[in-house]
Amino acid sequence: MRVGVLGGGQLGRMLALAGYQLGIEFRFFDPNAGAPVGQIGQLIAAEYSDHAALERFLEGLDVVTYEFESIPVSTVRFVAERMKVFPPVKALATAQDRLLEKQLFTDLDIPTPPFAAVDQIQDLQRAAARIGLPVVLKTRRMGYDGKGQAVIRDAASLEAAWIRLAGSQLLVEKYVEFQHELSVIGVRDTAGREVFYPPIENVHREGILRKSIAPAPSVSPQLAAVATNYCQRLMNRLAYVGVFALELFSVDGELLANEMAPRVHNSGHWTIEGAETSQFENHLRAILSLPLGKAALRGSSVMFNIIGHIPPMERVMAIEGAHLHLYGKAPTEKRKVGHVTLVGPSLEDLEQGSGELRLALGLVRGDG
Ligand code: AMP
Repeated sequence: MRVGVLGGGQLGRMLALAGYQLGIEFRFFDPNAGAPVGQIGQLIAAEYSDHAALERFLEGLDVVTYEFESIPVSTVRFVAERMKVFPPVKALATAQDRLLEKQLFTDLDIPTPPFAAVDQIQDLQRAAARIGLPVVLKTRRMGYDGKGQAVIRDAASLEAAWIRLAGSQLLVEKYVEFQHELSVIGVRDTAGREVFYPPIENVHREGILRKSIAPAPSVSPQLAAVATNYCQRLMNRLAYVGVFALELFSVDGELLANEMAPRVHNSGHWTIEGAETSQFENHLRAILSLPLGKAALRGSSVMFNIIGHIPPMERVMAIEGAHLHLYGKAPTEKRKVGHVTLVGPSLEDLEQGSGELRLALGLVRGDG
């Protein structure tokens, strides 16, 4: 079987590493000739608008998927006219626009922070008065890892935030004083069968995921059922195929949807060692119409992202239960270059290892 992957980052790399074990072959497409997947698979380096290069990419493939959320929808449509593409284009188009995403949540009765589209400064002023400060002004498109966002705490700062982000289509939403950030990862196959990993607790700093804990210690079975149900409603509405992630805020026992990702997700990296079937393998199983694998846990897991530098490998690998992954990327500030997952029988068993890992990775307060 031959799978084509649009995007050549670490998510594509981990998809391929999971697929090689099943004898699957991979071809990647990315505008960057130095993309990390070039080290492990065939890479076609061309612009996403280059139709001739896309035709070459498609030759002999069985199915195409994508690992990067900002792939132009027009590229995925071009591919979809010639080949099966999963997840469906509609999921990508919705996830690329925060307004469409929030409207979908609302349509499906999935609670989300109050929001409004902002085209003029007057829209922002009116929405801030209606929703109540603090609010977050966000670009509707191309925002990730906290980029393109401004938290506004007082009316005097509305104009400065508007000036900073104006020029893009914007959305404003209530700034939520959440207790926890959670995610749920689901998998749906071509026949509509589904598997869900248990909710994960995530720690972000500067909008970047630093740490994930699975299963989320703060989540009761009742809350987990609610989170899973939200994820399921979204996947069903989108006739989804593949791995899907829903990010949520937990506030006083309620869940509010923040955003969704139509792809394998950073908060699911722990599944490689911490679950019976990893999110990467399950994504491949789903898009290739193979039986889905169980999402059952192998104990508890804590995943730390490695950001901005390569840590001393031997120190990390000496820690009991630590599984190191490096993505073959040159470290630059704020760049995710790897991750480490600690797996053990329970979270208490992982405390010592987490402390040692924090030191080995040079983590600072706020990194989890
Ligand atoms: P996003 O790109 O929307 O996921 O935002 C990145 C991070 O910013 C989130 O993981 C939160 O930590 C924070 N954030 C985003 N939106 C809100 C909000 N409405 N209220 C509070 N924090 C937020």
